[in-house]
Amino acid sequence: MTRLEQLGWTSERAAALASVDAGGGLIPGRVGLEHNHVFRVLTEDREWLAETAGRIKHEAAGRHELPAVGDWVAIRPDPQGARAVIKAVLPRHSWFSRKSAGRETTEQVVAANVDTALIVFGLDKGVNARAIERYLVVAQRSQARPVLVLNKADLVEQIEGPLGEARAAAGATPVHAVSSRTGAGVHELERYLQAGSTVALLGPSGAGKSSIVNRLVGAEVLPTGEVRPWDARGRHTSVHRQLVRREAGGVIIDTPGMRELQLWDPEGGIAETFPDLEALGETCRFRDCRHHREPGCAVKAAVESGELDRGRYESFLKLQAEQEEIDRRRQELEHQGGKRKRRTT
Ligand code: GDP
Ligand code: ZN
Repeated sequence: MTRLEQLGWTSERAAALASVDAGGGLIPGRVGLEHNHVFRVLTEDREWLAETAGRIKHEAAGRHELPAVGDWVAIRPDPQGARAVIKAVLPRHSWFSRKSAGRETTEQVVAANVDTALIVFGLDKGVNARAIERYLVVAQRSQARPVLVLNKADLVEQIEGPLGEARAAAGATPVHAVSSRTGAGVHELERYLQAGSTVALLGPSGAGKSSIVNRLVGAEVLPTGEVRPWDARGRHTSVHRQLVRREAGGVIIDTPGMRELQLWDPEGGIAETFPDLEALGETCRFRDCRHHREPGCAVKAAVESGELDRGRYESFLKLQAEQEEIDRRRQELEHQGGKRKRRTT
C-alpha cells in the first residue's frame, strides 16, 4: 500500500484528479493542517506548504468551496521546492461544516472526507439523550458514519444503566463505553481505523477527545505546541497536527472547528435521527405537518398518550426551529446576493 493509499487515496480520487489535470503536472495530496490560509499538504513522498490558487478563490461560490483539513487536493509543486499551489479541491464524499463567525451566515468546512465520526461524551456528566441526538443530527448530515463513544467509564460503577440510556437515544448507531485513562475499551475503536479510513472526533469540550486521540495514536502523536519553522518570513509558530496518520492504520482528524460545531445543512439529518417521528408523521392530517401547532397531528397525539417521549419530542422541535432559522437567514442572504448581482450586470 502506498503512503497516499494509507491516507485514503482511491481509484475514484485518481479519476477525479485526472479530470482536473488536463495538462499534467499536478500531484495529489491531502490537507493535514490549515494555518492562516496556508495549508500543509501531505503527498506520497513529502509534505508541502501550499496556498490556494487565485482562480479557486475568485470562482468559489462561498467559503465552503475552499480547501479544508481532510480535503484531497491537486497541487502544482514549486520547482525550487518552496511553496506549492493548490489548483483544485477534489470532490468530497463527506464534510462537516459550521456557520462561520460573524453576522453573515456563511458555511465553513472544518473537516472533509471523514468516514467515521466518533461522537465523544464523558460519563462524568451522566447521559444527556438530547445532546446525543443533536450530535447525531450533525453527523448524519455530514455523510460520515456516526459512532457514539462514552468515555470516562472508569468513573462509573454500574455501566449498564447509562449504556442503556445512551443506546435508547442512539438507535442503530453503535455505542462504545471506554476509558482513555485506563485504556479499557479503546482498542474497540481501532476497528474504525483501517488503513485508508478516516475518523474524526466531535463532542463537548472536556469529554476526553484529545485523550482518546493520544491513546489511539500512542507514542506516535506529536506533542501539541510543537515549534516548527512555518512561513516564508521565517516566523516560528507553534502548531499541532489537525490530521494524523497512524502507523498502525487509519487517519484521525481533530480540528478546533469540529469542537464548536453548529448545525448547518438543512437537508436530512433530523429525519434520520428521528425515524420514529417520521413514521408517526405519516398519519398526520397535513402532509407538511411540522408537528407543532397543526391540528390532527399524530406526533403530538403520541406524546399525549405517552407512546412518544416528551423530551425527545421537544428536542425535535428545538432542532427543527433552529434549522428553520438557518434556512431563513440563508434565503435572506441569497436574496441579497441576487440583488447585488443584478445591480452589477
Ligand atoms: P477534550 O476537551 O474533549 O479534548 O478533553 P480532554 O482529552 O482534554 O480531557 C478532559 C479532561 O478529562 C482531562 O482532565 C482528562 O484528564 C480527563 N479525562 C479524559 N479521559 C478520561 C477518562 O477516561 N477517565 C477520567 N477519569 N478522566 C478522563
Ligand atoms: Zn404532525
